[in-house]
Amino acid sequence: MHLSRFPRVHLAHLPTPLEFLPNLSEKLGGPNIFIKRDDCTGLGTGGNKTRKLEFLIADAIENKAEVIITQGAVQSNHARQTAAAAAKMGMACEILLENRTEYTDHDYIDSGNVFLDRMFGANVAYFPKDADMVAAMETKAEEISAAGKKPCIIPGGGSNAIGALGYVDCALETLTQANDLGLVIDHFVTATGSAGTQAGLVVGLEATNSQIPLLGIGVRAPKEKQEENVYNLACKTAEHMGIPGCVAREKVVANCDYVGEGYGLPTDSMIEAVTLMAHQEAILMDPVYSGKGLAGLIDLIRKGTFTRDQNVVFLHTGGSAALFGYMDAFNFEK
Ligand SMILES: *Cc1c(COP(=O)(O)O)cnc(C)c1O
Repeated sequence: MHLSRFPRVHLAHLPTPLEFLPNLSEKLGGPNIFIKRDDCTGLGTGGNKTRKLEFLIADAIENKAEVIITQGAVQSNHARQTAAAAAKMGMACEILLENRTEYTDHDYIDSGNVFLDRMFGANVAYFPKDADMVAAMETKAEEISAAGKKPCIIPGGGSNAIGALGYVDCALETLTQANDLGLVIDHFVTATGSAGTQAGLVVGLEATNSQIPLLGIGVRAPKEKQEENVYNLACKTAEHMGIPGCVAREKVVANCDYVGEGYGLPTDSMIEAVTLMAHQEAILMDPVYSGKGLAGLIDLIRKGTFTRDQNVVFLHTGGSAALFGYMDAFNFEK
């Protein structure tokens, strides 16, 4: 396994810090909670899509692409990081946004990540909930080709076998940091959505025989569907790397009990988790992914899933720019 064999551009500040969270660990009565700060990848306010984009954009450049097309929810962190990556690489960017929450307020529609998409010079187009976003990207690609430019479609969340390489890399980076610290990681926890993050991590953790269990906390699909998506992508990623079969099906575990009413819809436990992390550690989570992921971790801790002396690493996947699209959900007294 040697990631330098794959085309890559430099976009992220790496390695991201691996930090102990003393206040949150104390407040919850253990385990020892560590956080892998992929919110600090640096590109356009950072987040987990930046690692994927290092490989995805390099692939687009190899294919001589001039216009990047991608899609996501209105407050998509992936769209914002893709817009930033395209700007940095001198490419145009078309962002297609699906209104999965059906919110119509100004904060959600125009602030947060959407404001930043425009700041990075991307064109933004809106689509209704349940629109066929794959077909919409293909239509956009045809328009761009007809206008004489070379398009490149990056899938939602940057989740394919190329993008997932970014999270194979994150697994290796985290293992190196833990080894340097003499830290034994008992559990690795991440939010999981379009699956590329968990798929890449599981390939990295399994191919190195780290024996670290990985738990994905789902934000959209039910457990069976989420595990199937992650497993399928992990298999494709392993194949792409020349190590087929390195991930056993039972190593792909998702807990989807913290989605609430649906993707991008706030839950009480998300509000509690985001506020607790801000108060205890001054770290900003996001309302759609890392907030619900952390809510799951906190609930599992309260249920006694981990012992006091265990070391749990939570991957901070970024996304705090989306907080500005969700200000009303926090209902602070003014
Ligand atoms: C996209 C995203 C995730 C989920 O990562 P996937 O690779 O799509 O599963 C988690 N957290 C944040 C903040 C994200 O933007």
